[in-house]
Amino acid sequence: MTDSMQSPTVADGRAADRIDGGADATNLIDHPRGAAPGKPGDRSAFGFEQKTRLDDAADGKGRGGARYGRTGVIHTPHGDIRTPAFVPVGTQAAMKAVLPETLKDAGAQCMLSNAFHLYERPGQDVLDAAGGLAKFMNWNGPTFTDSGGFQVLSLGAGFKKTLAMDVTGMKSDDVIAEGKERLAFVDEDGVTFKSPLNGSLHRFSAEISMGIQHKIGADIMFAFDELTTLMNTRRYQEESVERTYRWAQRCVAEHQRLTEERVGKPYQALYGVVQGANYEDLRRHAAEQIASLDFDGVGIGGAIEKRIIGDTCAWICDAMPESRPRHVLGIAAVDDIFACVENGGDTFDCVAPARCGRNGAIFTRDGRYNVKRAQHKFDFGPLEEGCECYTCTHYSRAYVDHLLRANEYNGFTLATIHNEHFFIKLLDDIRDSIDGGYFEEFRDETLARFYRNGSRG
Ligand SMILES: [Zn+2]
Repeated sequence: MTDSMQSPTVADGRAADRIDGGADATNLIDHPRGAAPGKPGDRSAFGFEQKTRLDDAADGKGRGGARYGRTGVIHTPHGDIRTPAFVPVGTQAAMKAVLPETLKDAGAQCMLSNAFHLYERPGQDVLDAAGGLAKFMNWNGPTFTDSGGFQVLSLGAGFKKTLAMDVTGMKSDDVIAEGKERLAFVDEDGVTFKSPLNGSLHRFSAEISMGIQHKIGADIMFAFDELTTLMNTRRYQEESVERTYRWAQRCVAEHQRLTEERVGKPYQALYGVVQGANYEDLRRHAAEQIASLDFDGVGIGGAIEKRIIGDTCAWICDAMPESRPRHVLGIAAVDDIFACVENGGDTFDCVAPARCGRNGAIFTRDGRYNVKRAQHKFDFGPLEEGCECYTCTHYSRAYVDHLLRANEYNGFTLATIHNEHFFIKLLDDIRDSIDGGYFEEFRDETLARFYRNGSRG
């Protein structure tokens, strides 16, 4: 890539691309596919095309040894996503310290924001008036919003993260994180919660979440579901799966009503979310329930123990039509990504690359390291040898180390660009390996190299 293509402030370069008839020539933001004045969004503007699927194998985790890993293309009104793909997270319609233009130059195909945060600030009416999330944040491409359920329900337990929990000896529906006040309460109709911003009381339900997400205007939305933790009792998990199904039915009905009502807008796809924690029978049951409803895709969510993350994807794919794309919500350990891709995940989001980067943790193919170590003070090599990202082609470890120690914003920018590029490129390479017929070799080599020195992540 040339410098001008990779510059973080690319206003000139992008204008030139358009004139030259480059990738941006269709100006999809102003003319999303399937939007016509006076008409509901055209659903045929969204769809999934499967390209290459992994061969079934003796150790395949799906029924009859099926392996659901595949490549394909998700078509959305704002452009296509070649899958498997990593989805960078801009929670509040922004990736901290990195402009959308820069993310695009780093290879990002799509972005995910959070409905709950945008509802709190600036409010969904602002995004609606702006022409939707993509246009509001000057992101020329497909967008996702998650329903807000995760954030709202996380307030209940005060836990930030539920994946890969050690739950040995802990089982209680009332458990909350030490020193935290319970801020969310679930009932049959929805969730009442206290705003972490100012303590005011709010209410989320299937209908409210759909109304908010329609106004935010992302290409792909998620149904409002109840998030449980691995510490909830089996009985509670059963009740929760049934409640999530009832909420899913209400989401589909409200989504269809809003699609008809909000004429002139592009079609927004709705994914149902499969819960069921780490119970195989509950996951399969929930997957069948979600598959029976008229969703455009499926979200694999909730608490999953790391050791069965691939199995969980396969159980869900057993029940799901292949035509529906599958999003795995909130993971980014390198081994988890391979397990989920192999068992049918198409898209993956996580905040970890950005959050880790701001703390100085740098992902490389040889594992994760902290750039803020004394040994890097005079190290003028790139963050990762051979990396083609903007940071690595222009800046040194010593400089990034200095910026992060000095709390300079540019340090956050440079570290985040590299880490986001790492995951985007990893998924690009996985996609090539499936199409090229060498997925297993690529997986084994990559994992052996990444974890050779006991790396985390
Ligand atoms: Zn790099």
